[in-house]
Formats: sequence, structure tokens, C-alpha cells
Amino acid sequence: MKNSKNMQLFKQAQKVIPGGVNSPVRAFKSVGASPIFIQKAKGAYLWDEDGNRYIDYCLSWGPLILGHADRRVLAEVKKNMANGTSYGIPTAIETQLAEMIVAAFDSIDKVRLVSSGTEAVMTAIRLARGATGRDKIIKFIGCYHGHVDSLLVSAGSGLMTLGTPSSPGVPKDFAQNTLLAPYNDADAVERLLAKYAGQVAAVIVEPVAGNMGTVLPEPGFLKKLRNLCTKNKTLLIFDEVISGFRLCYGGAQTVYKVKPDLTTLGKIIGGGFPIGAVGGKAAIMDKLSPQGSIYQAGTLSGNPVCVAAGIATLKQLRALNPYKKLGSLTERLCGGICQTLAAKGIPNTINQIGSMFTLFFNDAAVTDYDTAAKSDTKRYARYFQHMLESEIYLPPSQFEANFLSAAHTEKHLDQTLKAIDKWKL
Ligand SMILES: *Cc1c(COP(=O)(O)O)cnc(C)c1O
Repeated sequence: MKNSKNMQLFKQAQKVIPGGVNSPVRAFKSVGASPIFIQKAKGAYLWDEDGNRYIDYCLSWGPLILGHADRRVLAEVKKNMANGTSYGIPTAIETQLAEMIVAAFDSIDKVRLVSSGTEAVMTAIRLARGATGRDKIIKFIGCYHGHVDSLLVSAGSGLMTLGTPSSPGVPKDFAQNTLLAPYNDADAVERLLAKYAGQVAAVIVEPVAGNMGTVLPEPGFLKKLRNLCTKNKTLLIFDEVISGFRLCYGGAQTVYKVKPDLTTLGKIIGGGFPIGAVGGKAAIMDKLSPQGSIYQAGTLSGNPVCVAAGIATLKQLRALNPYKKLGSLTERLCGGICQTLAAKGIPNTINQIGSMFTLFFNDAAVTDYDTAAKSDTKRYARYFQHMLESEIYLPPSQFEANFLSAAHTEKHLDQTLKAIDKWKL
């Protein structure tokens, strides 16, 4: 694999961009490699500046469920862009995208569009606090909800209850309003809700976790959270920024039949453009200004180009209904990976649902952050590098989800499994 231009571009970038990247994981640090720089992409493929072509299993971290540069999405974007790129005044297509989201989620009557998943979560948290008049929130260790101050919190030493900032720059006072529980541990949530009775505004959860690698909710976990929240007048927030329209035309809430009070979306609903959304029942959503008093705003919110890309993506998902096929392709790939590695005597656990999965170099079940963290990250780094050399691009960290798109075919899977088979430890 040629890599000289990539290396030179990274050197150049580091002079003017902190760490050479605009989002940390792109630096390939945790896999001990130097980032590739992308020139273009199409379907299941990425091309880097050195001319290497990769099969892409990261897909811009999830948005590109139709594959890169989908022809029909691009056509809608071009058509809308020709009319202008931003007005800061309402457009008809914003309502159209909102209607599509409302139609796809039973729990959503109204939706506010923003420009990123982070912003959607920030808005959901403020709304929950404003609506309940309470300050505390409960989050799960290993779930990621964007770089929101009050959610950049990890477990302190000792009992995992009060959070401590996981980044300098997050005030301790913010972190102290964030309580932590292990994923899949509804009893821990019950204890926190009892201990801080009447103080918890919301429980926020990735209903299918994607940010400690893929981790599925255990049977009954989400239902139990729903019941606990209802009992304590605490709002339940499902962060479906990854899982929204990824598992089905709807969310993880559709699959697991549990209705949250608020839902955050992003990624797929922007079809590769910056977007986010927060939705819920009208009674809560109407507390946002200008209807209500809880402030939220955005210069580029509901941007017509992003919205057009989102509508085009959802329209195709509705028409093609690719979910069943995506699921069986992904199952086949995971089965193949598992077999190939087992034949080499490499312990592994694969968590998969629909078109998202994570291969953990771990011989035990991965059900939460602690079990995920036991994975062999050094082995993952070697695996990542071997696959990159074999022109297959995986997420550059053990603790991320892999994705398939409607542009992935059996041919790509065969090539991927062949590359894994050639891996020499
Ligand atoms: C990606 C992600 C976010 C943040 O979205 P951005 O658009 O990167 O700000 C929030 N929550 C979850 C679950 C995510 O996967």
C-alpha cells in the first residue's frame, strides 16, 4: 500500500490543525497508525490521496446507509443547492423532513432540527431540565452523546455514582449533576433514582450502544428504564443518533417496543450532511421557544441542503426497505469473521444487530463498558493495520461500530473474509 502522500498531508495538517484532524479518533492514534486522507468515495469504496481504494465499514461513522455519493441523494442536493444554500427563514422542506420523522416514530409528535447530534443531545437535556425543574441526569458508562459538557463525565473512583469530568475544561459543578450507571444495569438506575428522589430530570441512554463498540440492551433493560422513569416522573431520552433509521425505518425504540419521552437523531437523517434533531410529545416539545420559554436556536438549523439530503435518504430507505437484506449480509459477514478467527485460534466476540456490529478481541460476552474494556486493543490495532494494508477500512478504534450500507455486496464480504484469512498474527 502506497502511503507517502497521506503521510505528507498529515504532517502538513498538523502544522495548522490541532493533532492534524478535526475530530480526535480520525488521527488513528489508538491503532498506532497514521491517518489516510480521502480524495473521493463512491458506494462501498473510499479512495485515498495515494490512490488506494478501500472497502469502507465505517461510512463516516454511520450516516451513509445508502453508501457514498448516492446518485439520488446527490441529485436532490444539487437541485436544492442551485436555489440557494441558506436563508435563515423557514422552508417547506423542513416541515417535510419533520413530517417524515414524526411518521416514523410513534413517540414523536413534534421535532426541532439542529445541526449536529451533539446539539440535539444538548437541547434534549436542557428541555428535560426545563420541563421537570430538576438538574440531575443519569447516563450510562460507555455511552457517548456528543461532546456535551455535562456528558463528558466518567466514573470517579469508588462507587460509580457521581461523575467526574472526563476532559479538562468541564467544570466539576457540571459533572456533579451527572450520575453514572453501568449499561444494562437497571437496578443501579433504580438505586440512583431512590437516592436522588425528585432530583433527576432525565435518564439518557443509547438504546443500542454504538460508542463502546456495539452493545445490545439485554432483554427487559429498556422496559425497566421506561417503568422507572415513569414512576419517578423522570424523562427517558433515547439517543438514537446512530440507531435511528439504522436498524429499521424508525429506531431501536421500534425494534424493542419501548417509547422514550424524547428522542435525539442525527447521522442518517442528514444523508451525509450536518444535522441533528430532537423530538417527542407535543406537550414537552412545545416548551421550546418561541412557543415555550426554554431557549434553543441555530443560524443554520434546518439548512435546506442538509434537509434535502435527509429527505432523499429517508425516501429511498422507505422505497427500498433494505433492512432485511442488510441484516442478512451483516450476519453472514459476522459469521464468516467468527469462523475465520476461530480457525486461527483467536478469541473473539461479535455483537451485531441489523447492519451494525463490532468484533471484540475478547473471549467473554460484552454487555457493558467494563466487559468491552477487557478487549485486546493491541491485537485490534494489528488487525486494523493488516486490514488497511489489504484495502479494507475499519473504524480506527476497538470501541466503535462497523456499518454496512445498501452499496455493500457479497463480493465485498468475500474480499473482506479473504483478507482476514490472510492475517498472520
Ligand atoms: C455521533 C453521536 C452523537 C454526536 O453527534 P455529532 O453529530 O457527532 O455531534 C451523539 N450521540 C450518539 C449516540 C452518537 O453516536
